Amino acid sequence: MKLFDSHVHYEDAMFKDDRYERLDHLRNTDVKFILNCCSDVEVFDTVMDIVDKYDFAYGSIGIHPHWTAETPDDYLDRIRELVKHPKIVAIGEMGLDYFWDEPKDLQERIFREQLELAKELDMPVIIHDRDAHEDTIKILEEYKPKGILHRYSGPVDILKRAFDLGMYISFNNDLTYPMWNAGPIACLMETPWDRLLIETDCPYAPPYERENDRCEAYDVANVVKIIAELRGVSEEFVAQKALENAMRVYEIEL
Ligand SMILES: [Zn+2]
Repeated sequence: MKLFDSHVHYEDAMFKDDRYERLDHLRNTDVKFILNCCSDVEVFDTVMDIVDKYDFAYGSIGIHPHWTAETPDDYLDRIRELVKHPKIVAIGEMGLDYFWDEPKDLQERIFREQLELAKELDMPVIIHDRDAHEDTIKILEEYKPKGILHRYSGPVDILKRAFDLGMYISFNNDLTYPMWNAGPIACLMETPWDRLLIETDCPYAPPYERENDRCEAYDVANVVKIIAELRGVSEEFVAQKALENAMRVYEIEL
């Protein structure tokens, strides 16, 4: 089985002591590709380093809504420069997050500026939406980007509006949490096979039975297992669809 974990954060400080050891270890697993996502300017260099060191690693560069207050004025120029790298295949993650208390007008401005850049450069975007489903989809309907709703947890009707735009959704081990997996499962059951991606969002989203640990990209195998069970198909089928879809949306040609 060939697994493409479409959203990881090996640049995170939780991997500061053993980042390269853990990435080396992936060579012994079914994980054949990762997309290392990016949250703020502080980690731009680490993301670039990961994609340069590992043949199986691709990356994105962008500003997460939670880090908008720290964003320097020249951030768009820096993104524009870094995305010229052939293994930086998306802009993000970007979006709106109303769970934390970052000013909403600032979040929206930086979200819109990155969407405009992605349009100009014709690149896919990785969308973070937490407790901001209606505002996020309205902005997406304005810009009509190509890209992915990552770890989406909102209502199915908003997800369908994203599908109408041609967007994808990535599922992770949130599917294993009995107290709040009803939303992600409802979304999973309505997702066409050609729009589904898999991810771990590692180190942040461990499977329920290890809820206090960090997770790693190989935990994406568990996401495949759960999706296969819920949809009544083989794990190989899920892994293959997710791989093809990730290659298509990130426009990776081997
Ligand atoms: Zn992320």
